[in-house]
Amino acid sequence: MLGQVIELIEKHDRFAITSHIRPDGDSMGSSLALCWILKGLKKDAEVIMCDHVPHAYIRLPGSQDVRVIDDVDRPYDAVFVIECSDVTRPGLPSLKDQFVVNIDHHSTTALFGDLNWIDSTAAAVGEMIYNLAKAIGAKITPEIASCVYAALLTDTGSFHFSNTTERTFKIASELVRYGAQPAKLSQAIFYNYPYAKIRLVGAVLSTLERDETGRIAWITMSKEAMENSGASEEDSDNIITYPLTVGDVEAVAFFRELPNSTYRISLRSKNRVNVARVAEEFGGGGHTNAAGFTIQADYEQLSREVIEKLKIAVESAPQVNGREIKPR
Ligand code: 5GP
Ligand code: MN
Repeated sequence: MLGQVIELIEKHDRFAITSHIRPDGDSMGSSLALCWILKGLKKDAEVIMCDHVPHAYIRLPGSQDVRVIDDVDRPYDAVFVIECSDVTRPGLPSLKDQFVVNIDHHSTTALFGDLNWIDSTAAAVGEMIYNLAKAIGAKITPEIASCVYAALLTDTGSFHFSNTTERTFKIASELVRYGAQPAKLSQAIFYNYPYAKIRLVGAVLSTLERDETGRIAWITMSKEAMENSGASEEDSDNIITYPLTVGDVEAVAFFRELPNSTYRISLRSKNRVNVARVAEEFGGGGHTNAAGFTIQADYEQLSREVIEKLKIAVESAPQVNGREIKPR
């Protein structure tokens, strides 16, 4: 599949790259890296997205050139769609009429592209983009190295998650050699928060609850909490990590209230507790340890159902060790 992607790039000239709504570090890093690679090959390329670049990624090289649009408004020879479960995830309705190249590392992705390049062994799509750069003979510039590093850094949870392997560090090491600056990138992504975000963290964490086993925890962000702290929805990203830092907690749900009784739910887990399966039951998806979905529902009923399903996921997960876990 990589071979077909290379052939396509070599034979054509006008490309766009897009990713899912509310792009994350892998979406942004991979999209920008691919754009730099294509430009380096003297191709006409741009990143198009329906959402603006999140604050955490505005310092990535090329982010200021991302074109925010409601729909595809120019003809391209091909549009690369980065880590999307289906063709609607980028929020660009006419995308389906383009020649689409689906590039993803989720095993659950639909093969919606005219070309589909899926590698579920990749820690991040950024790793695939790096492989593409090398395979096509692109010069790895500091811009490309920085964007790929950002993708790897964020999708491995700063090298904390189980997708972090020897290969991840090997690639990270090569990227540093090519000009990625780890401290500078971590600073830009993780030490550059708006003040309102930390106020929001406080408000959301004050809603923390857990079940009787102490293995499942959940937090909620009401519309009022967001407005009162002066934060935006994007500022709520990553708050879900905090409950997971409790030693006994194995699965976390984060309920975010959106307009019209709609909730966006993020799920996180440790070890082999599969939250992607839980998200799929509510029409979403994701990875074993990080998944999500959006749904219109009554909060009380929804939270009960999600917690019930998380209990099943925790209880049916293969045990990493046989220790009985008691809440502290
Ligand atoms: P987050 O909790 O950060 O919004 O999402 C975590 C992961 O869950 C994402 O990287 C993505 O893989 C998946 N995800 C979140 N929301 C959705 C959704 O609505 N549909 C699908 N298919 N996947 C989702
Ligand atoms: Mn990813």
